[in-house]
Amino acid sequence: MRRYIILFSLFFFVFSCKTNPFTGKKTLNFVNNSTLFPSSFEAYNQVLGESKVIKGTSDAQMITRVGQRIASAAEKWLTANGYPGYLKDYRWEYNLIDSDQVNAWAMPGGKIAFYTGILPITQTETGVAVVMGHEVAHALADHGAQRQSAGTLQQVGAVGVAVATGNKSPEAQQAWMQAYGIGTTVGGMLPFSRSHESEADAIGIQIMAIAGYNPYEAAELWKRMKAKSGGQAPPEFLSTHPSNDTRINKLTALAPGAVEEAKKFGVTSFKK
Ligand SMILES: [Zn+2]
Repeated sequence: MRRYIILFSLFFFVFSCKTNPFTGKKTLNFVNNSTLFPSSFEAYNQVLGESKVIKGTSDAQMITRVGQRIASAAEKWLTANGYPGYLKDYRWEYNLIDSDQVNAWAMPGGKIAFYTGILPITQTETGVAVVMGHEVAHALADHGAQRQSAGTLQQVGAVGVAVATGNKSPEAQQAWMQAYGIGTTVGGMLPFSRSHESEADAIGIQIMAIAGYNPYEAAELWKRMKAKSGGQAPPEFLSTHPSNDTRINKLTALAPGAVEEAKKFGVTSFKK
């Protein structure tokens, strides 16, 4: 019976093809926003409910401020490039969670979380903007939906069942957590593909610059990540976001273009 439901769900969600406005590439999604987002929002609220969410501190305010600036930069970029209304189903939210894990993640529809454990590496508001730009970019480019599309049959099936029936089974919940790298009880998380990581870096550095943050700081942030991973146990974020010289060099090479892009929006000086 369960197998039947999974197959039915898969059949039900094939195949919506969508153009990514940032890359111009067609992407294959099993699930569309109107189906995916409500489940995403619910899973996000569940994570918040089970976490210690920090409210009202200067760090928490900074996370919200940076998130809002970057999402609004993304909106400007989308509107200027012929995609007004692209974000109409998004419900942006940026929360700081008290946890030693060096991690940050985004769920579909603009639900972002930072863990306090990543703040010693981001160091400055601009450092937060680098990670925020990257995470917002994953959300903008629908990588979450594609990640689920590309997941194993079991994972896609569990998410599909959850989406189709509102099923809150532990398996369905686990599939969400695993897909987004949340929780330590789940063994391993699904990494984004290398091309998703490059896309998120390339989009992220542009929107951080349009938001007024110095894009040259992107490479600096990843250098600090790399130094951190030199220790014994790589932080959670780094197991899905390997920081290497290629990534750092690419970001250095992308910075001048991001400065130029920001100019188009009247942004000529940057917060360091
Ligand atoms: Zn990423």
